[in-house]
Amino acid sequence: MDILVYDAMLLTLNDEGWIEKGCIFLKDNQIVYIGKGEPPEKYLQSAKKVIKATDKLVMPGLINAHNHAAMSLLRGLADDLPLDKWLHEYIFPAERALVNEEFVYWGTMLAGWEMLLSGTTCFADGYFCEDGAVRACMDLGIRAVLAQGVIDFPAPGVPDPKENIAQAKLFLQKWQGCSELIIPAVFTHAPYTCSAETLKQAKELTKAYETFLFIHVAETNWEVEQIKKEHGLTPVAYLHSLGILDENTIIIHANWLTEEEIKIIKDTGVGVVHNPESNLKLASGLCPVPRLLSQDIPVALGTDGPASNNNLDMFQEMDTAAKIHKGIQLDPTVMPAKSVLKMATTIPAQMFKLNTGRLKEGTLADIIILDPKQPHLFPLYDPYSHLVYAVHGADVETVIINGKIVLEERRPISFDTEIIKRHVLKIAEQVKQKVKQKMPV
Ligand SMILES: [Zn+2]
Repeated sequence: MDILVYDAMLLTLNDEGWIEKGCIFLKDNQIVYIGKGEPPEKYLQSAKKVIKATDKLVMPGLINAHNHAAMSLLRGLADDLPLDKWLHEYIFPAERALVNEEFVYWGTMLAGWEMLLSGTTCFADGYFCEDGAVRACMDLGIRAVLAQGVIDFPAPGVPDPKENIAQAKLFLQKWQGCSELIIPAVFTHAPYTCSAETLKQAKELTKAYETFLFIHVAETNWEVEQIKKEHGLTPVAYLHSLGILDENTIIIHANWLTEEEIKIIKDTGVGVVHNPESNLKLASGLCPVPRLLSQDIPVALGTDGPASNNNLDMFQEMDTAAKIHKGIQLDPTVMPAKSVLKMATTIPAQMFKLNTGRLKEGTLADIIILDPKQPHLFPLYDPYSHLVYAVHGADVETVIINGKIVLEERRPISFDTEIIKRHVLKIAEQVKQKVKQKMPV
């Protein structure tokens, strides 16, 4: 459908910056025209859908660079615990008992619904039984980099860890090229849960399929000590010694870095994802983002899974990212709003080699429309300031992905929310039962 949005404030995240009153025309899955003032007659004539967006704000959709979407079904199951206890005593046992492809499908549908309602048009995910996530994202109409989990102990869908790489290969074979919206990838859980051999094989696999390898790295100080004890190196240096760091490897967290490791990150071109709310909640530490950005190292923003955040609102994540580093450094000039907004748009787009993250002719038509007339957004002097410090996900009205409207006036178009709720409630009952039987109290 050809879509014309006019009389709108356009935040391009391009050289043009901010257009106070302009229009944007979408044809097939692309932005084909952006201009100031009134729309050209030919676009008014040919548009199948016309959206008059007077005083509304149009911008690129947000990209959540790290998630475990299906964990929306485990949200609130266990909180206020250290990472190792949270993982080993609650999350891993619950996952082993409950997670299968249907669980992942409905968990991702639920998370996707939440992400769309808060303006996320693309996310990167790492989980098990990720076939379910692919099916969900295609049904939701959301763009995603979906990575099949690899870990060296029995996991959902992979009871024999010796099969973890073979399963990941099957996943890539099955889904590569399946949809314009989906990039299949591989997610190795962490350097302390995957052996050197597993990590090297996973990297070989992603190289062969020309896709991305994700890994949680240097999340906690405990991990750093563990890797030093086992391998005589700090985590990033250890991964570098295995030869698995390059521009198609994305390291998640990177909270505890030495100067030597920052240099490795810079030299190898590896991407970094910062998840401030999850790190704060689990008290894991925080990525030295201002230091990395000062070295021109790409740092994208992610929420991490809904069980460790506990929401997927990227506007809230930007707000936290912008403020926490100011507080730590006692310097209000670090992490300015415009830089933080790029961490949720242009930087992850570049990291995932997606032609999106900005409003520009020829880029993919992934856009969101917000209503800034609410009291917390009125008057509007500086859009970057509002988007990072004042907007909530609930201010998003309309979401267009790949040229298709998926949310209109906050009403989902491509899926039935009552069906999602019904299935989620059924699974939640199973979670409650299993928790009673298997989980420590
Ligand atoms: Zn994670």
